[in-house]
Amino acid sequence: MEREQSLILEVNNLKKTYRNGVEAVKGIDIHLDSQEVCALLGPNGAGKTTTLKSILDLVNYEGEIKVFGKPVREVKDRISFVPEEKLFYENMDVNQSLKVLNKILTNFDNTKAEELIKYFDLPRNKKIAGFSSGMKTSAYLSFAFAQNVDLYILDEPTWGLDPIKRDDVLEMIRQLVIEGKSVLYTSHIIPEVQKIADRMYIMHKGKIHYSGSIDELKEKYKVFYMTGDVYDELGDESFYTVVKEQNKISVISNDQNQWNRLSKINEIEVDNCDLEKFFQIIIRGGLNSGVFSNSMKER
Ligand code: ATP
Repeated sequence: MEREQSLILEVNNLKKTYRNGVEAVKGIDIHLDSQEVCALLGPNGAGKTTTLKSILDLVNYEGEIKVFGKPVREVKDRISFVPEEKLFYENMDVNQSLKVLNKILTNFDNTKAEELIKYFDLPRNKKIAGFSSGMKTSAYLSFAFAQNVDLYILDEPTWGLDPIKRDDVLEMIRQLVIEGKSVLYTSHIIPEVQKIADRMYIMHKGKIHYSGSIDELKEKYKVFYMTGDVYDELGDESFYTVVKEQNKISVISNDQNQWNRLSKINEIEVDNCDLEKFFQIIIRGGLNSGVFSNSMKER
């Protein structure tokens, strides 16, 4: 059966500056199709949580955000959210939380919640405030996955989990999509994104540096490694990104003419660009570092 594709989430030119002047998000676009797992991948402080909070209308922002074609406040009952700061259920234990959730949510599947709580082996009568970080994540995931909604927004859904639970949670996320749901989640762990994301947005310092699938990334970009010996051959030149560490320069290029030219220079090593390399170079170099200049000699 062909998947029905429709736009679940549309974020256009989102900007968020906090009162202290921090520009956490600097004009980004995000689109999520139905039955898609979409990862927002970025290092600490990239602006991922701020983006999710904006989507959920938990902070003021500039730009346009539509969920299911509407402002989020009109469709909140179609969304389940796992926040980064796990404070909501702090003063309750699992049993009390379940009681509250059953009372306030019409879409809460208590049987599913019970199954998940059993799987995560969570204590029933201990205050959630006293849980370890992994246990808190497990509790929040149990409550979130038990909600029968169309869109799951998960901020670091594997935070604090051991490797086995982490893998199982990634599997659970994948399963949601098989059941017809859509997922937007944040991560800074590359293998977690490689494993389940249909599409990813790489975010750094408030900007999106890549959007697309992992396969597209491999097709569109190549990475070139060079040492100081090639300075004279290159001069000032614009690339997608450039980073210099000690005497080694790494360049990412999405321009086929550059690929042809650089590949012909003996001292330059060329490699296919996987997510790991792309992420490392982008994060170390940044998007505005895309000019290879002779001033690199002095750096
Ligand atoms: P992490 O992976 O570490 O959770 P993140 O990608 O989720 O990071 P954000 O939490 O969105 O990043 O933070 C982006 C920037 O905004 C950071 O510089 C952070 O210090 C700043 N920031 C976040 N929340 C606030 C706030 N309430 N007031 C002021 N600045 C904030």
